[in-house]
Amino acid sequence: MKQFVVIGLGRFGSSIARTLYNLGYDVLGIDNNEEIIQALADSITHAVQADATDENTLKALGVRNFDVGIVSIGQDIQASILVTLILKELGIKFVVAKAQSELHGKVLYKIGADRVVFPERDMGVRVAHNLVSSNILDYIELSPDFSIVEIAAIPEWFEKSLRELDMRVKHGLNVMAIKRNEEVIVSPKADDIILEGDILVVVGQNKDIEKLEKHV
Ligand code: ATP
Repeated sequence: MKQFVVIGLGRFGSSIARTLYNLGYDVLGIDNNEEIIQALADSITHAVQADATDENTLKALGVRNFDVGIVSIGQDIQASILVTLILKELGIKFVVAKAQSELHGKVLYKIGADRVVFPERDMGVRVAHNLVSSNILDYIELSPDFSIVEIAAIPEWFEKSLRELDMRVKHGLNVMAIKRNEEVIVSPKADDIILEGDILVVVGQNKDIEKLEKHV
């Protein structure tokens, strides 16, 4: 079973640590703030107060034996870079690091992070799309040009089939799934009818998605 070490237990790190632990994984959390460690002590496998920029401390904690390292230090960029570097040098196969800016992210990749995440930026993008139209429920960027959006069906779509809506031709978009209450209709057929309350999961080019966003 995979073992995870999460370094930096702020909002993002502690949320990841708790979730992994609740999923049944072994989670070692490290933070230099005593209060944070005490608050999390009962919610993860081990919570240790330590300065993670100290390589000897990480060695003594046996961090090298973990499969995945998550570095969730945002403010102190120097510490985030140093800890990511140490984890890779200790031989952790997969290191995920949180970046605060594009430049920070580039540096993290350069020094060996296997994956860099930008939670603030990504959430900002999602919230912005949701504010443009309250029918846009979620927004996931696949690449700089393509995205997936979840759209609450608008009245003009009710009781119409996907063939009648013809999103592919009219909007350049593909409906990947329809969420209906607890049910998810994956790869819906042209004859499937949209009902009130349906949520459409749509994939397409950003420029086409933007046009649809303005319409809904
Ligand atoms: P959030 O996830 O809350 O947005 P953030 O991006 O603002 O966090 P910080 O608050 O800078 O990030 O750091 C997250 C956590 O990392 C804090 O709890 C902090 O105590 C811890 N931390 C920072 N530097 C170190 C270090 N050298 N060793 C261990 N923990 C550290």
